[in-house]
Amino acid sequence: MKILSVNAGSSSLKFTLIEMPAQEVIASGLFEKIGLEGSFYTIKYNGEKITKESELTDHAVAVKVLMDELVNLNIISSLSDIEGVGHRIVHGGQEFSSSVVLNEEILNRISKYNDLAPLHNPANIMGVRAFMEVLPGVIQVGVFDTAFHTTMAATEYLYPVPYEWYEKYQVRKYGFHGTSHRFINKTISEYLKRDDLKVISCHIGNGGSITAIDSGKVVDTSMGFTPLAGIMMGTRSGDIDASILEFMNKQTSASISELTNELNKKSGLLGISGVSSDSRDVEAAAEEGNERAILAQEIYARKIANYIAMYNNLLGGADVICLTAGVGENSKTMRKMIIDRIASLGVELDEEKNDFRGEFRLISTDNSKIPVYVVPTNEELMIAIDTMELSDK
Ligand code: AMP
Repeated sequence: MKILSVNAGSSSLKFTLIEMPAQEVIASGLFEKIGLEGSFYTIKYNGEKITKESELTDHAVAVKVLMDELVNLNIISSLSDIEGVGHRIVHGGQEFSSSVVLNEEILNRISKYNDLAPLHNPANIMGVRAFMEVLPGVIQVGVFDTAFHTTMAATEYLYPVPYEWYEKYQVRKYGFHGTSHRFINKTISEYLKRDDLKVISCHIGNGGSITAIDSGKVVDTSMGFTPLAGIMMGTRSGDIDASILEFMNKQTSASISELTNELNKKSGLLGISGVSSDSRDVEAAAEEGNERAILAQEIYARKIANYIAMYNNLLGGADVICLTAGVGENSKTMRKMIIDRIASLGVELDEEKNDFRGEFRLISTDNSKIPVYVVPTNEELMIAIDTMELSDK
């Protein structure tokens, strides 16, 4: 069966068409600047890539153009070839602990969490409605970034703030990247043929989060009420002292929302290095001796190493550490920097094995107390798997 895996943003729509259960990607692409001037789309299929400008006034138009192209390019013979659509939905609150079949009632329940993810959830829902219109009768499934983390206990998800913040306003840790961490846990558990593993899953891309998993259940994760918390990222600060906001507000008269935007978009690797949010650029600058780039890399590696050490403690000793996403899969330099900084856990990198990018591989030595694997993530596939499984029910 052919399943579309969809990630709708406020002005973009990313899709992957996957043949299931064979897990073969048939086509993928991106619609950009939806609702804006200069909208266009790219579709990759059969080793080819087309890019076209098109007036994409809203998501419904983009989805119609996509369907027409899939047929015109002979990627599918008719719309009835598509037997399921899985949608990434960022926030399902405390309520959605697994993927669900979407209908009007469920969409209304998901909308309750729009305030918790104002940039993402309304756009995700818009994408769902657009596909419901064009493919009536086809199963639509919602896959939440937050769902995998709903197993956290109050000891982990509560912030030590007045309890009413939680009761009245739902202020708690939710965690994100759940679909990726779930995929990593599934992949490593299947590979090692164990369902009782204690896994530290490190999703290190432009965004980044570390998750402690015990026997398939999340114990703790580094992102929080929003994706701003936890480790240092490409442009996000990660954990900082909350008082900095009031102090900076008084110093600069920038509003809380402007400052929060700076913590999300101007901080992290970009903020410290002043060079870029992209670890490739920061690495290149560091190699040329740029001191702030060197400092940015050092802080970045330490923040990640500290979380790994903390989660090793929380799990009572991890069985395996997995590195994934753009940096984790591709940067041997950053992998080495991180692993060197958890040497106290008895973790040891095999530098020869580490000299590669972008594939599943063990990178620690035989002596390493905890094995370290690079596990390429695949959120689109995880979404397609959930959609297939729910369509069977
Ligand atoms: P993601 O958010 O998972 O797509 O990761 C994107 C990030 O991965 C980029 O911003 C880069 O920092 C990083 N990245 C991708 N390829 C490489 C590479 N070959 N070496 C180092 N970093 C990379």
